[in-house]
Amino acid sequence: MHVHLDSDDAMGEDRARGAAVSPSHTILVVDDEPPVCSMLTRALIMAGYRSSAAGNADEALALLPSLAPDLAVVDINLPGMSGMDLCVKLAGEHKIEVLLITGDDDSYSYIDAAGSGACDFLPKPIRMRELILRIERAIAARDVRLERDRTVEQLRYLSITDELTGLYNLRRFREALESEIVRSGRYGHNVSLLMLDLDRFKRVNDCCGHPEGDRVLKQVSQAIRSAIRDPDTAYRYGGEEFTVILPEADKDAAVCVAERLRETIATELSSPPGSDRPGITVSVGVALWKEGEASAQLLERADAALYAAKRNGRDRISISTS
Ligand code: GH3
Ligand code: MG
Ligand code: MG
Repeated sequence: MHVHLDSDDAMGEDRARGAAVSPSHTILVVDDEPPVCSMLTRALIMAGYRSSAAGNADEALALLPSLAPDLAVVDINLPGMSGMDLCVKLAGEHKIEVLLITGDDDSYSYIDAAGSGACDFLPKPIRMRELILRIERAIAARDVRLERDRTVEQLRYLSITDELTGLYNLRRFREALESEIVRSGRYGHNVSLLMLDLDRFKRVNDCCGHPEGDRVLKQVSQAIRSAIRDPDTAYRYGGEEFTVILPEADKDAAVCVAERLRETIATELSSPPGSDRPGITVSVGVALWKEGEASAQLLERADAALYAAKRNGRDRISISTS
């Protein structure tokens, strides 16, 4: 039946080792020989794993939702869909570690197994202690990979997010503006830029303290988020300044969004009744990207429009005409 227990007390030792194995790990065994299935699952359970068996690929795939295995031990020679094809599915689509086993190691090699996405390959007869050691290693390697992926994702998030407001930060803004300009140039699309600066924001800090100022910045960010739609994106440019990139937007569309932002902020952040906090308003500069223009020039024009809005009395938008 191609499964060997090692001559020394393998089960006893594995049972003892089982204490160190996380019982949260689940192993699916796929083999068309019922005695092999029951021998493997029994040994895996004694080693501290949860384990279930399937006799063919269809059964194995049907078990996935309820079992959610961490690793599958799959015989290459299965009736119907081959173990190799099942391995491609399990490893590729379902991100499950697969250890292929075969009694036919003349026809299949480790190279074939790795090519199908298997993490390991073991010819029969199976030595249980070896199989369990390989399973432990495969799961440990997967855990390291998952942890690394989570860390990379977290670092990426931190590197592009403004800590106070949760909006994208200046670094992300620079990347995004650059790539939007390249994309618009390639496809002949519009892209518009809004620059927002809160009016007389120093007063808020002066009258109510810096923590209240921070709270207002968060509320403004929330208001900006609620007033824009996909594919538009908002950024904290610095201090109490924000930018919004509007892909595909011509001047009319950009003016419309700018006016909506101005109005939303003025309405949602009006002076709370009975509070010293002044009402919050914003000035907005609007600029439509011109064919061939560099990001720095577009920014400069949006900034100039913003200061025109300030000069003209604040709580208003101004459009770059240059
Ligand atoms: P203006 O209408 O001309 O823009 O007036 P203003 O007072 O908003 O202009 P100014 O740029 O002189 O002041 C911006 C203020 O924003 C100064 C600074 O204390 C405050 N500020 C910048 N970043 C933060 C922050 O992260 N938290 C808080 N609470 N205040 C901030
Ligand atoms: Mg400012
Ligand atoms: Mg300001």
